[in-house]
Amino acid sequence: MTRPQIARQIRAGAGLIDAHTHLGADMAAFYNGDFPYAISAEDHGVRLAHLGLERAVCFPFVYTNYFQLIAYRHGRFRRATGSASRFPYEFENLRLCREIYEAFPEFAGTLLPFAFFDPAREPAGQAAALRRLARRYPLFGLKTASSYLRSPITALLGKGACLLDLAAELDIPVTIHTSVLPADPWANVFDVLKVVAERPDVRFALAHTCRFDRRALDRAAALQNCFVDCAAFHIHCRLAVENHPAIAAKPHRFHADYRDHAAALQRIAAAYPVKILWGSDTPAHYWKSVFRDARGMEIRLNLACGPTTEADCLRKLPAQLARRIAHNNTVRFLFG
Ligand SMILES: [Zn+2]
Repeated sequence: MTRPQIARQIRAGAGLIDAHTHLGADMAAFYNGDFPYAISAEDHGVRLAHLGLERAVCFPFVYTNYFQLIAYRHGRFRRATGSASRFPYEFENLRLCREIYEAFPEFAGTLLPFAFFDPAREPAGQAAALRRLARRYPLFGLKTASSYLRSPITALLGKGACLLDLAAELDIPVTIHTSVLPADPWANVFDVLKVVAERPDVRFALAHTCRFDRRALDRAAALQNCFVDCAAFHIHCRLAVENHPAIAAKPHRFHADYRDHAAALQRIAAAYPVKILWGSDTPAHYWKSVFRDARGMEIRLNLACGPTTEADCLRKLPAQLARRIAHNNTVRFLFG
């Protein structure tokens, strides 16, 4: 099946689409003792059937074997010599497409692969590798999470522009991780919005509901080429209730009762009806990690969320609104 054939099939139906999931394994998370660290195409198939979802957008996890694993786990980004990835994510993106189209071809058109990229490191090499990949397999979009790579998203306006040129050439959208943490200069949501505004030729999705920053949501709504995904909504609501710094501070936060997740989702989806994309972040709908800060203090994060919570929340919305954020908007994001 080709991408246009799959696109026609998706447009003709009305099934629910998850716009934000991961597929593959993250060795750094595994050896750190963090969760989640992996999910296979088969696992996705079981979950989609159980949740009554029709399709899912899938990207790799964050760690790429372009980097030395041990150094990476200590926050140092060193190129691994003799790696299967000559450019960031070369191996992981190929592995993703092979898993869907060769190992489990029954999922072609059900699992929609997005390739991961690093906005700043060897973008020309990455773009060339992605162009080759898109010639071999139907590729549906690109994704980056520049916070974890310590790679500034604004590189996409400089030497990384070739990655967005490729997205425009292939007519595929780009999902970008966002942050409002002051100590995160790599994926600040307003920097991401700057990139979106300067590239009207590319469709974008800002991940994680712009961390509920109302100013960012309003700005995204004003940009014709911009969508916003609500990935990992449940744990973000919990962080909002705790006034955690990963979420917009109260004066700038979109006004909603974040103790009632379905009510908060409905309010946001109704406020930005043509912009919100439903996404679960499977299997990162929950997050359990242990790390040491600069002073050697052990920091534990234990953000629980059950495997059906995100889909259950979607189904509490009025059916038309659920269809809008989990199908209609998603189809426009994917195919224009
Ligand atoms: Zn994610």
